[in-house]
Amino acid sequence: MANDDPAESESQLKSRSKLSFAPSSPPSPRPGRRLAFLDGIKVTAIKSIGSKKAASLEEMGIVSILDLITHYPFRYIDRTNQERIADMKIDQEATVVAEVSKVESHRLRNNRVMVVADLYDDSAYMKAVFFNQPWRAHQLRKNNQLILFGKMEFYRGHRQMTNPVVDLIGQDSRRTGKIVPIYPASEKVGITSWEFMSWIEEALLRAEYIVDPLPQDYKRTLRLVDRTKAFRDIHTPAALADTVAARRRLAFDELWRLQTALVAQKRQLQQSANGIRHVINPKVELNQPNLVEEFIRSLPFQLTDAQAKAVSTITDDMAKPWPMHRLLQGDVGAGKTVVALAGMLTAVQGGHQAALMAPTEVLAEQHFLVMNDLLSGLNVFDAATLSGNRPLTVGLLTSSISTKERTRLLSRLKNGEIDLVVGTHALVVESVEFISLGMVVIDEQHRFGVQQRAALRDKAILGADTLVMTATPIPRTAAMTVFGDLDLTILDELPTGRKPVNTVWVKDPSEQAKVWERVRFEVAQGHQAYVICPLIEGSDKLRLSAVNQEYERLTKGELSSLSVGLLHGQMGSAQKEDVMKNFRSGEIAVLVTTTVIEVGVDVRAATVMVILDANRFGMAQLHQLRGRVGRSSEHSWCYLLTGDSSDTIWHDSSDNNQLNDEAIRRLEALEHCNNGFELAEVDLDIRGEGTILGVRQKGRSDFKLASLRHDLELITAARKVAEEMVDLGGSLDRYPLLKDELKWFLNDTDQEAEFLFKS
Ligand code: ADP
Ligand code: MG
Repeated sequence: MANDDPAESESQLKSRSKLSFAPSSPPSPRPGRRLAFLDGIKVTAIKSIGSKKAASLEEMGIVSILDLITHYPFRYIDRTNQERIADMKIDQEATVVAEVSKVESHRLRNNRVMVVADLYDDSAYMKAVFFNQPWRAHQLRKNNQLILFGKMEFYRGHRQMTNPVVDLIGQDSRRTGKIVPIYPASEKVGITSWEFMSWIEEALLRAEYIVDPLPQDYKRTLRLVDRTKAFRDIHTPAALADTVAARRRLAFDELWRLQTALVAQKRQLQQSANGIRHVINPKVELNQPNLVEEFIRSLPFQLTDAQAKAVSTITDDMAKPWPMHRLLQGDVGAGKTVVALAGMLTAVQGGHQAALMAPTEVLAEQHFLVMNDLLSGLNVFDAATLSGNRPLTVGLLTSSISTKERTRLLSRLKNGEIDLVVGTHALVVESVEFISLGMVVIDEQHRFGVQQRAALRDKAILGADTLVMTATPIPRTAAMTVFGDLDLTILDELPTGRKPVNTVWVKDPSEQAKVWERVRFEVAQGHQAYVICPLIEGSDKLRLSAVNQEYERLTKGELSSLSVGLLHGQMGSAQKEDVMKNFRSGEIAVLVTTTVIEVGVDVRAATVMVILDANRFGMAQLHQLRGRVGRSSEHSWCYLLTGDSSDTIWHDSSDNNQLNDEAIRRLEALEHCNNGFELAEVDLDIRGEGTILGVRQKGRSDFKLASLRHDLELITAARKVAEEMVDLGGSLDRYPLLKDELKWFLNDTDQEAEFLFKS
């Protein structure tokens, strides 16, 4: 599928006219304006955009012609079929187009301002009333045409809308009887939807034809319209139906560009690094026992189907000649550790080493204990011994071990006496050498900083297989986009026998007594409890004292008869270790703590969790925290406390403390749902996608149209096209237009674009 649309070079275009953007005399057949080219032309190329308007546009982030034509309408008014004021039903929301006949501003008693506009269309009069928007008096002028959206009321004998959404469409009636696009206009900088409409019309007219790197065949099979038509139809549609097809094409392009970059990057990783072809069938290949099988057989439980499938996917991957880059997503408690261990043992049985990286020392320590426990009794091949084997060895490397221990550990890693090592990022930021690192597992990767992740990636690029794990699920479509350079495995099943955690949102402070009663009751049964304070680790002295205060208060008050421990990030490593040890052993019954225990901590006897000021936490965090209980077959409880718990320890004037709508939706969702993937969808709905896309969501990789929630079909299609195009011939050389577009696209992001241009 070669592309036959030759892109006109920039110099060619520039030489055609002084104003390079202006249409010239008869255009040569299908010369295309590339996006990069349109991005290089300032908005002032449009006749009616002077320096003042240009400055206002810049405030909105619109600098180039491309910015302008990708400033998309957010809705349309169908003026071929518009409602008349007289026909609108009272108490219903609707859109109406009306003209201003009079505007008045009144000052009310409480010093607030009320602006009243009298409006009419050819059927009736109405009023629009604005409270606290004094600027409306300047914005709305006699004879202006407005598009109003709001609820029609009937007040003192006339129709009226209060604080409606208003779009100014000026006095121009060019688009009467047509589909009128409504742009996200910025009242702040004084640009109307109407101005956008006319500027964009002009821009598109003069751009004539915009390069379309998508081969014709794909357009046909995916039923995607041509790019130029899409731009025209989204801005100046002849019919509403056209806007749907236009949006679909332009959203596809956003997704496709990103997917192509991700796929190309992934292929490059696969090709550049020499991976290890791990031994997955040692009985046949080496005449040695299969460690993975032995390990699974020795477990005190049966793997879930999801775990078994994940293990075989991972080991199959590891047998391939290129390095694995896989993301393992699984809800809290799905049993990711065991899956990771199976992968690590795959490396070990072939004579390599494996490393597991945890985001906190508490978690690294715990993994170390669990591994020693689960792996005891396993032997590895060692020709140097009489028996031909020796016990498998596990090391722990954190920044808190003594220098002596550290030196010894490093030398044992270097000479191969250690098979598996667990640690914090101390494993990568320092000069740790392995005799043969075959597998790297990164646990709870979302907790690592950008720099640490980069360091981990560098280490991994040496050829080790990499498994990244996260218990902060994001929907599959989102994962494909955010982690598109990784393969994806999902553990969508919890071990049997788990009971959902009874989650109760305790809104009323007077109900809190019952919560502490439950804590005392559970402890009396030999169970344990967590009390979580919203401390942002290491960032705030005031809140640090809060966790201490809470500890004081509880030990003197509600929990005075119990053994209560305190744990937070500011404590020394040895002290932390001590507290965790005593909590694991049951000596401490209630742990008053912060989010240091958010990730991974696994103490099965814990059956109650009390989260103070729960509204201060995000959805994923609350779900993670809650995942610390309900780890056995016992019933368990999670109490989400809001309102003034205790004696208002947060002297905090910001409104963080208040229950906003988002917090309410979050807490309600948690009360009703125990499934991390479902909660992630709800969270996506509440907070929008920007939060998930994080750093990737900026600059040219912004999605203006595509939605991770709603465009599942398009994301999948974009991925498939990207894979086919990258894989055909092993490079993008066949698609010069696409390659060119990606070069421009990636230029703006942090990503290395180099991989695109290596063949
Ligand atoms: P997460 O996926 O949250 O990291 P873990 O790996 O810590 O979960 O596992 C949670 C707990 O479940 C551990 O105590 C682990 O031993 C146990 N577990 C793992 N797999 C199973 C299984 N198939 N059946 C029963 N318990 C399991
Ligand atoms: Mg875990």
